[in-house]
Amino acid sequence: MEGGKPTADARSGLKLVRHPASRLFGPRARAPRSGLKIRLPFKRGRYAGDMKFLVTGGAGFIGSHVCEMLLREGHGVVALDDLNPFYEVALKQRNLRDLQKLALPFSFVQGDLLDGAALDETFSLGPFDQIIHLAARAGVRPSLEAPALCQRVNVEGTVNVLEWARRAGTRKVTIASSSSVYGVNSRLPFSETDPVASPISPYAASKLACESLGHVYHHVYGFDVAMLRFFTVYGPRQRPDLAIHKFARLMHAGRPIPVFGDGASARDYTYIDDILQGVMACTRQSFGFEIFNLGESQTVTLNLLIELLEAALGRKAVIERLPSQPGDVPATWADITKASDRLGYRPKTRIEEGIPLFIEWFKGTV
Ligand code: NAD
Repeated sequence: MEGGKPTADARSGLKLVRHPASRLFGPRARAPRSGLKIRLPFKRGRYAGDMKFLVTGGAGFIGSHVCEMLLREGHGVVALDDLNPFYEVALKQRNLRDLQKLALPFSFVQGDLLDGAALDETFSLGPFDQIIHLAARAGVRPSLEAPALCQRVNVEGTVNVLEWARRAGTRKVTIASSSSVYGVNSRLPFSETDPVASPISPYAASKLACESLGHVYHHVYGFDVAMLRFFTVYGPRQRPDLAIHKFARLMHAGRPIPVFGDGASARDYTYIDDILQGVMACTRQSFGFEIFNLGESQTVTLNLLIELLEAALGRKAVIERLPSQPGDVPATWADITKASDRLGYRPKTRIEEGIPLFIEWFKGTV
């Protein structure tokens, strides 16, 4: 089924809405059909949470966890995702299958944020009480390879979500930003009050633009907007292009891992459950417009990360040393005072516990 026309699943009689995936890739590179069966059993008042959410990027790493948490809290969820082949589509389909297995009120629209018809179809499944906007072309290095695509999806895509929300009367939106907006910040840890006018990658620039747009829709239309600056997120379902997952895969296969620089670069790695805690806290409060850091507030060098992976996998890493990459920042470290005060955010999973948890999940996938 193409062109956004809903079809009925033979057994359940429920609707699957699927749109051609990103037109930016052209028809031949379109994401394969997912074969997913979709249910639409929303009944207001039946579930404790009693709200209906739209989650963009709901088939992705963070998005699928957010959908799952919302469903478990008793809310109805519609996920929009184009299932593009930025990384293996099968992983996104597996995430969606996990969501379907919950047998909770979950609907999925395969469609592109840049496609008005897909957005019309998605919003016709509303009205939504809240939107959690996570769909994006994520990552610094991919944004250097395809800067225009990154801006189109992240910036124009965000404008589209906000515009459709405005027309549909949804005024509460939580949007993914990124620690990358801090650029090369000499002040550690990074605080929301630090200047962010000097991004060093197209990705960071796109996320700064999203933050500005969130503020515009707050100021002009009275939207309630929370911008969440995620600090490198990991855990089950993590994107395979991110260091922890990529290194684990290569080490498991006995292959060398590419290490850019001397291994002294440091990241604040945040376990997915802690990110969920922060996202869910935003759904329960109104702020006007606020930006929050969501990190572990523990900065970890690449060398230490590799040691933790070695211990959890029980294998020594073979290191392929490469020069530092443009766009990479030397360190990230979240000051989480504001999230702690305003959201009651208390990250619980330090990297020493989180890596073994990730590896436990990873071993189940190989
Ligand atoms: P992800 O790639 O797993 O999820 C993003 C999802 O958005 C994907 O499933 C993708 O198919 C979908 N998508 C992309 N373009 C789309 C489009 N045009 N239309 C519809 N769907 C589209 O990435 P993630 O790691 O889960 O990241 C989620 C959000 O968090 C992103 O906005 C990302 O920039 C942000 N973020 C992530 C991290 C991290 O460490 N994972 C850190 C900072 C910020």
